[in-house]
Amino acid sequence: MSSSTGTTGTTTVIANIATLVTNDPSLGDGSPLGLVRDAAVVIEGDRVVWTGESSKAPATDNRVDAGGRAVLPGFVDSHSHLVFAGDRTEEFNARMSGRGYTAGGIRTTVAATRAATDGELEANLTRFLSEALRQGTTTFETKSGYGLTVADEARALRLAARHTDEVTYLGAHIVSPDYADDPAGYVALVTGEMLDACAPHARWIDVFCEKGAFDGDQARAILTAGRAKGLHPRIHANQLSYGPGVQLAVELDAASADHCTHLTDADVDALASGDTVATLLPGAEFSTRAEWPDARRLLDAGVTVALSTDCNPGSSFTSSVPFCIALAVRDMGMTPDEAVWSATAGGAAALRRTDVGRVTPGARADLTLLDAPSHVHLAYRPGVPLVSGVWRRGVRVV
Ligand SMILES: [Zn+2]
Repeated sequence: MSSSTGTTGTTTVIANIATLVTNDPSLGDGSPLGLVRDAAVVIEGDRVVWTGESSKAPATDNRVDAGGRAVLPGFVDSHSHLVFAGDRTEEFNARMSGRGYTAGGIRTTVAATRAATDGELEANLTRFLSEALRQGTTTFETKSGYGLTVADEARALRLAARHTDEVTYLGAHIVSPDYADDPAGYVALVTGEMLDACAPHARWIDVFCEKGAFDGDQARAILTAGRAKGLHPRIHANQLSYGPGVQLAVELDAASADHCTHLTDADVDALASGDTVATLLPGAEFSTRAEWPDARRLLDAGVTVALSTDCNPGSSFTSSVPFCIALAVRDMGMTPDEAVWSATAGGAAALRRTDVGRVTPGARADLTLLDAPSHVHLAYRPGVPLVSGVWRRGVRVV
């Protein structure tokens, strides 16, 4: 545990942790959260090198006293749309005054995003990232989808890639207004020239499979073309209505089917049979006063569930994972333990990552310290800013 290894740096113990969430069932109480009481975590460089009971912690160079509070993995927000300009306050206000939400509102943000400079877009992105970090998010995915031209989509991904490895090409967010009379022409662009320009900047390809956006055949064509260029699929599926998105996700081995609000029994069975994670985004249902996804039904069927913010200016303008945890517990049938797992290990599964979303030796040292004795307080004390410390890659950033 000395610092003599040179390349990895000094060691630090975070001790006197009342409740540590490891997400390793082989540790602690044997639950999925792998809870360890009176715990400590040792960090060396950007990695966790030891977890266990505080009294057994090895000697280290530095010591941080957690003061009898809770530590959990940094949140893994596997679904956001943060490269945009402008906001949609008026649309939200109108909707809360009785008007329904449709996919078309995205056009408002497309116009503002196209008109913005690179500097304006990146400043906006950075602002939301630091907002999320202060609330405990240490890994995030983000998407294009407000450019809808070859140059604007590629620009969004290039800017996003400066801040995260989890970048998703969503040229198929809606049919570009420029192609309103030629949706087939837009699909050809998304799977052709736009894909060629965007693939070098992205890891994932996504499509909004929904009435008013893209149907099942179009979604299949788009995701299949992306896969041929080395991008892995994920899908906005079954948000506003029943449809083919979820089963297409499983068929194509998408990492995640996101929203999953309107599911048939066959959709649930498909998710339970494959490796596709169901990512639930309760901020969207909150902000559109829509029906909640039934997390209990998915969990009882054995589906892996992730919880994310869907942070975007139209349908879910929150960067707060703790808020989503509270909603999931209150309105979606999740227990506090399940919701915390889904917002950490679940998010990691939705990104097919094993180095984040857990606090075990070898994992990235991404930790959140709560000003509370237990992770349960994230749902028990909704709306309270409980995150009082954040480490990312071993560095305390909050
Ligand atoms: Zn989304």
